[in-house]
Amino acid sequence: MRVLVLGSGGREHALSWKIAQSSHLEELYIAPGNAGTRLHGTNVSIKADDFQGIRKFVLEKNISIVVVGPEDPLVKGIRDFFEQDEELKKIPVIGPDKKGAQLEGSKDFSKVFMEKYNIPTAKYKTFTKDTLEEGYAFLAKLKPPYVLKADGLAAGKGVLILDNLEEARAELSNMLLDAKFGDASSRVVIEEFLKGIELSVFVLTDGHSYKILPEAKDYKRIGEGDTGLNTGGMGAVSPVPFATPDFLDKVENQIVIPTIKGLQQEDINYKGFIFIGLMAVKGEPFVIEYNCRMGDPETEVVLPRIKSDLLDLFEGVATGTLSERDIEFDEKTATTVMMVSGGYPESYEKGKTIYGLNEVENCQVFHAGTTSDGPVVTSAGGRVLAVTALGKSIEAALAKSYNALEKIEFEGAYYRRDIGQDLL
Ligand code: ATP
Repeated sequence: MRVLVLGSGGREHALSWKIAQSSHLEELYIAPGNAGTRLHGTNVSIKADDFQGIRKFVLEKNISIVVVGPEDPLVKGIRDFFEQDEELKKIPVIGPDKKGAQLEGSKDFSKVFMEKYNIPTAKYKTFTKDTLEEGYAFLAKLKPPYVLKADGLAAGKGVLILDNLEEARAELSNMLLDAKFGDASSRVVIEEFLKGIELSVFVLTDGHSYKILPEAKDYKRIGEGDTGLNTGGMGAVSPVPFATPDFLDKVENQIVIPTIKGLQQEDINYKGFIFIGLMAVKGEPFVIEYNCRMGDPETEVVLPRIKSDLLDLFEGVATGTLSERDIEFDEKTATTVMMVSGGYPESYEKGKTIYGLNEVENCQVFHAGTTSDGPVVTSAGGRVLAVTALGKSIEAALAKSYNALEKIEFEGAYYRRDIGQDLL
């Protein structure tokens, strides 16, 4: 197969690394990719949401399948774009169409969907500027903390959790009347706060059958002990010890199966990954959010635990024959620790030379924000590298990840030293 991966983060490096191991692979291209993806294929300088640029490239190189990493092109309708084009419509896109991507692109859509198909989630209501007063009244009925969510995509910043009612009222008004998150907050979901432990479950589906992939826990805050600002993710662990077989059965029966059935009933021909963000509340799973793609850094611990050929699975997704494909997992634990630029998630400098990458052993270094000029690799983003290791236990995997991190350096580099500690 001649494969084009869209995106440029650690997730896309992990996808490229895994695809490169496939016996079905003829040629791999990554648009735009990073200094890590070029080790497994050819980077092409086309943005992941430049549909016309992608169209031209796909036809020129006779691409047989397109794998979409980030949500943006999906929410903007890249699959619809392919399906509506005479020349592109035979080329499968791994990722949902625009309607399916609304599971992530609109919090209100996903809440209505969950309510309709009886999928456990926090109680909620959605408000607009015309129903602000009703929003205040709804807040007054809830107990703190108050959870306010901008309906649309807000680069992971659109969720506010507030301890006091006055603040919650003020933020609701900021979001609805003053467009705090632009158009994304023209509708706001207010929901009940769920107290529990978070984890994520990933599903690959061809629209009919599905495979549940290894679950993972990620670490969102910049500081140790889960303190400080939210980030794109500072590390991840898979499997998650508190996700017992009994809990995962509940996830499958109460969430995954109704989700797949619901998508079918809504006439959504979903083909791709579903990321289910969960809160475990006293042993019961509740959906916090759906994403229409894999997570980053979760991909960096999930894919290394899949033994099966990823392109074989993607072929199953594309042709609606996923149920005929086997999927096998590695029992070992995978950990990943993110190395970030000093200052991230606030302002930070780029262009720092990264040293020591060739000295790393027993680990897979997935590049996120990196670029290269010949053999020199430099930082090009906030999150720079994800260092993944497999081990017989969380401790064993972490020891390898941290050992490798000690060998890598760039000016201002920072990483959390407590990834996975809460699970020990
Ligand atoms: P991201 O893009 O960072 O994955 P998001 O902006 O799409 O997230 P959510 O995942 O819905 O938004 O919420 C962000 C975080 O807020 C969650 O990971 C969770 O920690 C917290 N959160 C969201 N909803 C609730 C809730 N009902 N109760 C408790 N915490 C919540």
